[in-house]
Amino acid sequence: MKVTEHIQNADGKALFSFEILPPLKGQNIQCIFDTIDPLMEFNPPFIDVTYHREEYTYKDAGNGLLEKKIVKKRPGTVGICAAIQNKYKVDAVPHILCGGFTKEDTENFLIDLDFLGIDNVVALRGDAVKSEIYFKAEKNGHRYASELVTQISELNNGIYLDDELENSHTTNFCIGVGAYPEKHMEAPNFDSDLQFLKQKIDKGADYIVTQMFFDNAKFFDFVDKCRKAGIEVPIIPGLKPLTSKGQLNMIPHRFKVDLPDALVIEILKAKDNDAVKQIGIEWCIQQSKEIIAAGIPIVHYYSMGKSDTVKRVAKEVF
Ligand code: FAD
Repeated sequence: MKVTEHIQNADGKALFSFEILPPLKGQNIQCIFDTIDPLMEFNPPFIDVTYHREEYTYKDAGNGLLEKKIVKKRPGTVGICAAIQNKYKVDAVPHILCGGFTKEDTENFLIDLDFLGIDNVVALRGDAVKSEIYFKAEKNGHRYASELVTQISELNNGIYLDDELENSHTTNFCIGVGAYPEKHMEAPNFDSDLQFLKQKIDKGADYIVTQMFFDNAKFFDFVDKCRKAGIEVPIIPGLKPLTSKGQLNMIPHRFKVDLPDALVIEILKAKDNDAVKQIGIEWCIQQSKEIIAAGIPIVHYYSMGKSDTVKRVAKEVF
């Protein structure tokens, strides 16, 4: 079932969803089930599975002085999605990237998802890898998520890359896209970012999931601006409970989001990691409750591979 249908059918009860990361190569799928199992009591209608590219550095075999950088796609997203739908009978939502994919890779990926009975995808550009300053698309790949949305929408209309295909099967993917209440880090300003977000919707995206934020006022303001710009699709807020003092620097650096003073002061005062976790959880509970009280029908949580803190939040909210 489509994410948008889950939201329409929610019937006044707020929905809980979350995302998980495929494990590093060499691990067993049990670690995914161990993350998901404790969260199933909150009846997630769908679970997102992220997609990742990683850069590896190899020493040159000859003199060991030259270094080679190779970018690889982390395996697992498609297999985990199939396993989730099979084991838990909930919809799995794979993330799909521009980065590392040619248009043909994208088409093949989508055909596999369709054959597996996966109804939803989140279409993203992906970030630049470590050694790049700016994101670099594959030759014959997509530069922006809006182009990826166009390709998925075309497949939904039976338009494949090989234009000689006749009577081709039409897929029926519900398409999610990412958005940034505090602006995407590369966007020259908020308004231009908003216009490009609108472009993704105009090209066929059905819903939006936001980057994490810690100040609800920024999310409410963002929703307001989207509606004024003519963006009418559901906007799903993304939240993450803070779990360590290190995240006070890591999260603003990596995701370009602000942490409110009140939260930072409390965390700096905390005596140990357990106290930090407790503050992060309480903050996230308050954020979730306020969002739901404002009539937003769903809250999405970034688990980052760990379910214990998300579970402690969900217990108080859902
Ligand atoms: P885009 O929508 O393409 O935008 C990228 C930048 O380009 C923005 O600054 C935008 O304003 C600008 N722009 C857009 N169109 C144009 C245009 N036509 N001309 C000029 N500028 C333009 N990353 C992963 O690697 N794996 C994941 O699984 C993953 N999941 C995510 C889930 C969510 C909900 C979110 C919010 C992000 C996720 N990311 C993930 C991170 C994401 O890939 C990065 O934030 C990336 O830098 C931008 O992706 P995007 O799809 O928002 O890009």
